[in-house]
Amino acid sequence: MDLGTTNSLVGVVDSGFPILLADENGNRSTPSAVCYDHNGSIQVGNIALRQRALNPSRTVTSVKRLIGRRGGESDWRPHYNLSELGVTPAEVSAEILKRLKSIAENALEQNVSRAVITVPAFFNDAQRAATKKAGELAGLTVERILSEPTAAALAYGLDKLDEHQKVAVYDLGGGTFDISILEMRDGVFQVLATAGDTQLGGDDLDQALACFLAEKLSRPATDLHLLEAAESIKKRLSTDDTTEFHGVTITRGDLEKLAKPWLDRTRQHCLRALSDAKIKPGVLDEVILVGGSTRMPLVRQFVAELFGKEPNTSQNPDEAIALGATIQAGILAGSLRQVLLLDVTPLSLGIETFGGLMNIIIPRNTTLPAKAGEMFTNAVANQDIMLIRILQGERELANDNWELGRIEVPFPGGPKGSARVGVQFSLDADGILHVLARDTVTNSDTNLEIRGTAIDVADERVEQMIAESIEFAFDDMNERIWTEAKLKAEELLPAVEAALTQLGDAITADEAQTVRQHAANVRELLDGTDHDAKALKTATQLLDDATQTLAVLLLDRAMEESLARRGIL
Ligand code: AMP
Repeated sequence: MDLGTTNSLVGVVDSGFPILLADENGNRSTPSAVCYDHNGSIQVGNIALRQRALNPSRTVTSVKRLIGRRGGESDWRPHYNLSELGVTPAEVSAEILKRLKSIAENALEQNVSRAVITVPAFFNDAQRAATKKAGELAGLTVERILSEPTAAALAYGLDKLDEHQKVAVYDLGGGTFDISILEMRDGVFQVLATAGDTQLGGDDLDQALACFLAEKLSRPATDLHLLEAAESIKKRLSTDDTTEFHGVTITRGDLEKLAKPWLDRTRQHCLRALSDAKIKPGVLDEVILVGGSTRMPLVRQFVAELFGKEPNTSQNPDEAIALGATIQAGILAGSLRQVLLLDVTPLSLGIETFGGLMNIIIPRNTTLPAKAGEMFTNAVANQDIMLIRILQGERELANDNWELGRIEVPFPGGPKGSARVGVQFSLDADGILHVLARDTVTNSDTNLEIRGTAIDVADERVEQMIAESIEFAFDDMNERIWTEAKLKAEELLPAVEAALTQLGDAITADEAQTVRQHAANVRELLDGTDHDAKALKTATQLLDDATQTLAVLLLDRAMEESLARRGIL
């Protein structure tokens, strides 16, 4: 539930999806107005708001400005007197929450007893406690009091941000302005700083525009109709370039001229919040907009310039807080968690390694987000570039899998095996694969981002890939064993050759003959066309054992020479 200063909203998680609920008239937003009639009846929402003109002293609006404050603590003076009405701010808020509860109960056709309620980030303990009390008075168990900017960030899906990523939430509503800087820590948002003005919002711009119109039309600026007209003109100018009112043309430029000083007031608060959070605008990972006034193109442009980053406008700014509260409620109730965690890798992700084999880095069915890496080296001497092919699939051979991308990592040439290239795959919760290749010798990084493809694979293609991997499992496995044995053999053969030459007469003719025979067997299998992986593996193993004997002999020989040199033998 978003218990707002001007409007309040309610949502629920239905079948794993957060949705906001409408009242019987189809309105998802309920004015935060409560009218206490002479005859003792209480009306809430639009009906109450209509009473304001007739019955101002009995119609309570903007009670959020008073909740949890002691008398005299707020410099805001309402047009009503709560003690005359015999109610507390928490009781008034409870009426609004009761109304939201009944909207939810009507929509769901079942009893609603638990809620998450949002409050501004700057609310102190007393204000939070009073809000919780209001919930209880409305017959609700308050599962959590959630900060509005955090709720907004949840609605924008920013709970998937990495650790220490930072977000600015610019919230410009009808009567208040809030700026909050959040940081993701241990998987939850921390409010690093918050600033704002409880007397700054769209209403001020309506006033300024009403004065402008009054002057043009030579009417008194206090004309209430002008104020109402000003608001609708303002809203229209968010989409249209010009509009007309009683024969006067008003352009977006006119409005923007009036809005300039108004926006400049928000600038001071933003700079203050950034400085309190000890960060520069450039380091923000996301800037999000909340509040109806951020629909104005000028506000969006202003925010983009101020923070040096295009704001994220993917959510409805009037509904983001309520949506975030709903998401939080869903997470607490466990009805969203499964949905959030359902994302897994449909197919394995890896890179091609020596001999054209697939080396899996993130196996299929790994829950997102996921991170894994491995160290690779150069296969040939003096190679100065390593080509990394990023692959997806279940087949053993690189070429049978799908290539998602490739990167080239340059490194200083050196002997075989001297390069150290770390390859890290990190797959974020949105399925975007970030590949980082780091030459750990020179500490230089190469990055590649692969969007969508790592996760968005049509079901049929996944099925086909898995079916093929099973169908060809035997052949594939044979190819893998063959390739591995081949790589080993190609490494061993020259080593054996060298050892034999070096040792010369140190071993008997028979011993040398056995080793040569093993080497010949391996060579024959390598040159053959039937790719008998098992035979090659056995032959290579025998050659390897023989080389071990040679290696021991080489070592003994070296030791003897050394001792002899020192006159010990
Ligand atoms: P909120 O408190 O978030 O409901 O925001 C209400 C404020 O947003 C009021 O001042 C509205 O006049 C203003 N507002 C709503 N829609 C628009 C729009 N399309 N363009 C400009 N201002 C708007």
